[in-house]
Amino acid sequence: MYCCNIFFFTYIVLFYLINAIGGVARNSMRNFAFNSFTKLVYSNKFLTNVVNRKLRKMANEEELALANAGKDENGDSIFGKIARKEMKVDLVYEDDKVMAFNDINPQAPVHILVIPKMRDGLTRLSKAENRHKEILGHLMWAVAEIVRQKDLGDFRLVVNNGPEACQSVYYLHLHILAKRQMKWPPAIYAICSYFN
Ligand code: 5GP
Repeated sequence: MYCCNIFFFTYIVLFYLINAIGGVARNSMRNFAFNSFTKLVYSNKFLTNVVNRKLRKMANEEELALANAGKDENGDSIFGKIARKEMKVDLVYEDDKVMAFNDINPQAPVHILVIPKMRDGLTRLSKAENRHKEILGHLMWAVAEIVRQKDLGDFRLVVNNGPEACQSVYYLHLHILAKRQMKWPPAIYAICSYFN
């Protein structure tokens, strides 16, 4: 019986160990392939242009589809669903105009997204018009309030605008990144999540 227990325990430990090593190896290989591919692409002007054109086309198609849907008021995108409470999120802050929630794929120990409750044409920051001044100010104020409430200390605020900036969700959002040392400039060899 004792022997059986030892055997079973060893089997469990080995099972988890092999799985963990396999996971690390898989991730390292994936990262290596990913980094090599990105370095190759961005070391060559022609390839860079091809990739950037492709990203731009994908983003433009997405924006066009959203515009054609004519649902700017409701926000016809994943963040629209979140704003309309059709999708559950890890809510951090909410008032009558904006809401903030934890990013599903955090890039720092604290990674919060802040969005307006109404997209109102703001698929990206560069679409801002006169009427958006108030909500843009409110979003910035909300960032300061969240940082204060959660005692985040120093932080980085990011707005990705368009494919060359790796924007992937076409509904204006501010990234608050905190609780780790940031670097500057941001990674040169990062590649957009379209390729993930
Ligand atoms: P972008 O690349 O457009 O600047 O940022 C989009 C962000 O939204 C990414 O960091 C991504 O991880 C996050 N994201 C995408 N879909 C979801 C979701 O369904 N829930 C949450 N919480 N975050 C999401």
